Amino acid sequence: MLKPGATIGILGGGQLGRMLAQAAARLGLNCHVFSSEANACSAQVVPRFTRAEFSDHAALEKFAQDCDVITYEFENVPAESASFLAARKPVLPDPAVLATTQDRLIEKSFVANLGIPTAPFAGVATAAELAAAVAKIGLPAVLKTRRLGYDGKGQMTIRPGDSPEKAWSELRQAPCILEGFVPFERELSVVVARTRDGAVECFEVTENEHRNHILHRSKVPAAAPAAVADEARRIAERIAGAFEYVGVLAVELFLVRDGIGHQVLVNEIAPRVHNSGHWTLDGASISQFEQHIRGIAGWPLGKPVRHGRVEMTNLIGPEVETYPQWLSVPGATVVLYGKGEARPGRKMGHVTRVFRDE
Ligand code: AMP
Repeated sequence: MLKPGATIGILGGGQLGRMLAQAAARLGLNCHVFSSEANACSAQVVPRFTRAEFSDHAALEKFAQDCDVITYEFENVPAESASFLAARKPVLPDPAVLATTQDRLIEKSFVANLGIPTAPFAGVATAAELAAAVAKIGLPAVLKTRRLGYDGKGQMTIRPGDSPEKAWSELRQAPCILEGFVPFERELSVVVARTRDGAVECFEVTENEHRNHILHRSKVPAAAPAAVADEARRIAERIAGAFEYVGVLAVELFLVRDGIGHQVLVNEIAPRVHNSGHWTLDGASISQFEQHIRGIAGWPLGKPVRHGRVEMTNLIGPEVETYPQWLSVPGATVVLYGKGEARPGRKMGHVTRVFRDE
């Protein structure tokens, strides 16, 4: 169990690392951020920052020497860098998790092998496999690159009448996964925390609304039948258990109609704190960031209590200019990430609103 004063290394310099570092500071723990970006927004809130490439072994070595435990705030940390660090200091969650979640085909197969429902899917590496996948799954379908996709990047929806080959060319014929298009009613997510000795604590199921493939708003409680919400939480706990995960992970799901009832299908796993869990920062007694820090520091997890009905809205790109209007709204809290230019699509901050009307 880390003592106050210990140092947590964070790989990645974005807002998730920034909010992790702020949560760590509240517990008397220090953070050292490692990022290749000069203007990493998390560097503003930590005592130590290394700016270097993930391939720079000398920088990784020095960073490891300074840290008691190392974690990440984004999932595309190169596997080689993660294992270099893991040979020197504890890296949590285990880098083996990255190997699964960095590749959509391996990830979906992992979930399906646990007997957890997903959209139908097939791997696509050749034109013949693309044709076979379309024949098996049918259209509409979604073609996604296996690696490095986020916020809708690296994916194309193929509708009946569209040319699958053309969609694949637009993805530069990268290795892909074809998924059946899910006519979902809502998108949900579950943020779950797990400790080394297997204790788990789930936040309540969150309902998510996307705009242009980017999360726009999260609401809790989600408008989902209680039995389905319980199932979503059980699924997240099973996934965390199967990975022997340490820290926080998020599972994104689709809520679909299933005959007379509803069902959830897993879309994606994020091996880190997640945008759909930002409501926990001001909407609950313990945030996802603190749960992650507690988990990797070997502290007992908190028992989060929600303060009311909560809505979290992202401030994307120029929307950040609207922050002053939220400052005096009752029940609203504004979080700004300290990023420079408000480029379109860039997550600049968020607003959380707590309503005591339940
Ligand atoms: P992803 O990058 O897999 O999280 O996908 C981004 C968004 O695209 C999701 O949040 C959904 O809104 C949509 N999407 C992804 N996969 C599917 C699918 N198989 N069927 C329908 N919509 C999807």
